[in-house]
Amino acid sequence: MLPHERPPLPPADLNRINPAIWPRTSGRADGALTIGGVDVRDLARDHGTPLFVLDEHDVRSRMRDYATAFAGSDVHYAGKAFLCKEVVRWLAEEGLGLDVASGGELAVALSVGFPPERVTMHGNNKSVAELTRALEAGVGHIVVDSFEEIARLGFLADKHGKRPKVMIRVTTGVEAHTHEFIATAHDDQKFGLSLGSGAAAEAAHRILEMPSLELVGLHSHIGSQIVDTAGFEVAARRLATLLVQIKDQHGVVLPELDLGGGYGIAYVDDDEAPDIKRIADGLSEIVTKVCADAGLPVPRLTVEPGRTIVGPGGVTLYEVGTVKDVEGLRTYVSVDGGMSDNVRTALYGAEYTTVLASRDSQAEPMLSRVVGKHCESGDIIVRDCFLPADLAPGDLLAVGATGAYCRSLASNYNYLPRPAVVAVRDGQARVIVRGETEDDLLRGQL
Ligand SMILES: *Cc1c(COP(=O)(O)O)cnc(C)c1O
Repeated sequence: MLPHERPPLPPADLNRINPAIWPRTSGRADGALTIGGVDVRDLARDHGTPLFVLDEHDVRSRMRDYATAFAGSDVHYAGKAFLCKEVVRWLAEEGLGLDVASGGELAVALSVGFPPERVTMHGNNKSVAELTRALEAGVGHIVVDSFEEIARLGFLADKHGKRPKVMIRVTTGVEAHTHEFIATAHDDQKFGLSLGSGAAAEAAHRILEMPSLELVGLHSHIGSQIVDTAGFEVAARRLATLLVQIKDQHGVVLPELDLGGGYGIAYVDDDEAPDIKRIADGLSEIVTKVCADAGLPVPRLTVEPGRTIVGPGGVTLYEVGTVKDVEGLRTYVSVDGGMSDNVRTALYGAEYTTVLASRDSQAEPMLSRVVGKHCESGDIIVRDCFLPADLAPGDLLAVGATGAYCRSLASNYNYLPRPAVVAVRDGQARVIVRGETEDDLLRGQL
């Protein structure tokens, strides 16, 4: 858990909807927050709270921004950030690819006829059933993560008469988080095959020996919430050394390079979200230069953004239930959801922005902590924030930038039903994931 020791300062305007954080179509009308031309009071009345609201224009326009900025490369949305049938339809229409990390995520894609050749399958422990499904569906790429998997996939592909395109997940020893990256020699984590130890080169050797597998490239994913391209440069440089080694040892020039995802978004006022175009130009420059230095042709580049596509377009609405002033400390504002719909604060000290959404207020700022209704004192949604001192039960709070890694990480802890997801656009709201009911909670119990 990260300590948040710096004393927070109240923002100049408690009612402000910072466009760097909130969905592209959001604003205030008649005092209330609106998204996609829909008043959040209407959303809460019609669909209940907690509620995930997804700004369709925001998400689709970010998909298009990526497709434009990375023209000539492949953009694969990392489905684990938030996946449902409707988002897959948007991806199909906007021309992006999709990364899946399980048979279940693959099933969502296939259920709406997403082109399988635009799917990449990831995961450090794909089961025989998952690999078989991927082979039968004809997914575009499978990223292998271990020697066992290379043998398993080679056997299954042979058995099913397939020859999948395979990439090697390479652990480059580069790890990036927001402003810093560390480049170490040893890579103490579960993902990938290590470059430093020679495991990645050995994987290439083994795949090239298998007639049922087609080795097309290397893959690297260096972290999350990254705001500049420095870490990618080091990772690309290291991958290029392996490309050269493979060329020298096997006479094979691999045509593809996947640099993963991890680009950051703004959660709070101080955050800077990197410009996609700058990232795209930076990466293309890096790959071109690194390959030129290594005497290699420039491979086709793939990137895998997750958070940056769906994060900023999502907002969670909650209803305030209690407002408890803890004398001399802060006010605890309890809402009707919590760590079951947003575990990121409890899990890794994530920061969020919240506003009073059902009305505006000119009351004094009140140092607050927004907490859920679960039986854990760590059940915190927004650790430090300022809300107006006239906040009262029945008010609606909105928490911004919750489109990624909130619904997808949601649980039924304390038997809370997982909230619905509603897409808003041009004044219309449409349920794209139904909220769970008590029947859903009891289903499957004997
Ligand atoms: C999670 C993940 C991504 C996406 O990361 P974001 O931080 O959401 O952009 C991309 N590629 C791989 C392999 C991942 O595991």
